[in-house]
Amino acid sequence: MEKLKQRIEKDGQVLSSSVLKVNSFLNHGIDPELIDAIGQEFASAFTGQGISKVITIESGGIAPAYAAAGYLHVPMVYAKKAEPSTMSHPLSASVYSYTKQKTYSICIEEELLQKGDVVLFIDDFLANGGAFEGIQELVTKSGARLGGVGICIEKAWQDGSALVRRSGIPLCVLASIASMSRENGIVWNH
Ligand code: 5GP
Repeated sequence: MEKLKQRIEKDGQVLSSSVLKVNSFLNHGIDPELIDAIGQEFASAFTGQGISKVITIESGGIAPAYAAAGYLHVPMVYAKKAEPSTMSHPLSASVYSYTKQKTYSICIEEELLQKGDVVLFIDDFLANGGAFEGIQELVTKSGARLGGVGICIEKAWQDGSALVRRSGIPLCVLASIASMSRENGIVWNH
């Protein structure tokens, strides 16, 4: 997606050869027009594939997941990182966090995912695939099926890229980074 790549080049910051900061427009500060365009891209990639729900993990994936769900005309749910006292039947899974380098639990209210749901997982980044694995575990526990993965930014040399492709689940990546460094910036895949 050219628009996203251009914005990353303009406003993204390569913090190291493995971490990119995009918090002025994607996952902290939000550019609504860019997010809307991202939602349209994901929706056009997954229209006709029977998606009945969009899922993400708070907080970085919420904006793009919400936009995609709007264009797909399906509900969206985000997994929470702390279990609220109001949750009656939590379904949980554990996730190894790439940025925080520790394991944490994610949970959702059981009734928000149902047997028969075909679920699209959307996230801001794909790194080592911990978030993908946690969501896959939650979706499987609920009796639903993961029917697609939509990623805004993939760091293609990290393990998640091969992990998701090996799963055979349809994948849509909007901006795929081949490599990056503070000195030379970002090298894109195609
Ligand atoms: P994974 O679970 O695939 O290892 O990592 C994906 C999650 O880690 C994303 O939800 C995102 O929040 C975070 N993440 C991974 N790589 C980066 C990065 O380079 N920059 C930022 N800002 N977040 C990242």
